[in-house]
Amino acid sequence: MIIQKTENSRLSDFDPDNFSFGNTFIDHMVICEYENGKWGDVKLVPYGPIPFTPAMMGVNYGQACFEGMKAYKDKDGQVFLFRPEKNFERINKSAKRLAMPEVTEEMFLDGLKALVDIDRNWIPQGEGMSLYIRPLIFATEEALKARVANKYMFAIVATPAKSYYSEPVSVKISDHYSRAASGGVGSAKAAGNYAASFYPTQLAIEEGYEQIIWTDDSTHEYFEESGTMNVFVRINDTIYTPPTSEKILDGVTRDSFIQLAKKRGIEIKIEPVAVKTVIEAQKNGTLKEVWGVGTAVVTTIFQALGYQGEKLELPKLSDEESFAAILKKDLTDLQNNLSEDPFGWRV
Ligand code: PMP
Repeated sequence: MIIQKTENSRLSDFDPDNFSFGNTFIDHMVICEYENGKWGDVKLVPYGPIPFTPAMMGVNYGQACFEGMKAYKDKDGQVFLFRPEKNFERINKSAKRLAMPEVTEEMFLDGLKALVDIDRNWIPQGEGMSLYIRPLIFATEEALKARVANKYMFAIVATPAKSYYSEPVSVKISDHYSRAASGGVGSAKAAGNYAASFYPTQLAIEEGYEQIIWTDDSTHEYFEESGTMNVFVRINDTIYTPPTSEKILDGVTRDSFIQLAKKRGIEIKIEPVAVKTVIEAQKNGTLKEVWGVGTAVVTTIFQALGYQGEKLELPKLSDEESFAAILKKDLTDLQNNLSEDPFGWRV
């Protein structure tokens, strides 16, 4: 790895008690270029702009995919990644689906570790604090030709992330728009999936909702995901979550919640979740909780579901009663080195 340290660290201007998530970038970034059929040297360089022209294929044809993961600093200042091999596997699954070159495990993991290590002083400490890390691959070839590109960049950038408290939100169950289609790219973290989700989300916001529960594209009768999160439903004391498929992103948080629920002996069923079943359960009082999970906010609890003009309220549970809150605490304690790690998830 080629390391070029910054001579102008911005760290002294960074206030861990007052910063903007997603707009504040750590001093360094990782870059690696792909050309002539192979990846070049991995470089750790000062964070900053890279010159490209508007004819860059990645921005014209959308050959671009990314990952989202975090590093956590415990009370003794030790820094941990959480299940980074899952993100490594997923970025390559995305790259393959978008006909892009896969990255090597060495590039991905060594790049991550070197970046987090050199900028460890940027990682905020304390409950809910972390460093959000964004590895990405995009086509850099300058050509207006709708075909697979010949040049790519792999990069890793990172932004400090705050302690957040996410208020319960109201979500609209989609009966028209879809996030993904059969045979499409839903299980890839393709940049274009997010672009396509913004307009329907804007419409839902105009109707007074914060997010959309995405349903299947052919019938809209089954839950798929929620916003940019995987979705869980609790009826009585059983949790349900849809199985992953070519239309559903295989979330690391989803998988961790499933394993943590099993460890606690909570009944969890991985099976299709019908909109009708959820609505019936709400009407007969057996629907206890619906929530989304993902790396960014870990858990978002839903307070109401909108469906075809009707707003269905969900019960308000205390943290002791809520499976979502219990499992979130299990997960964040593990991520922050506040509990044992029986799964070997901390790296
Ligand atoms: N679904 C979508 C569409 C997402 O963008 C994300 C965030 N990566 C997730 C689910 C949750 O995945 P993870 O738990 O790996 O963050």
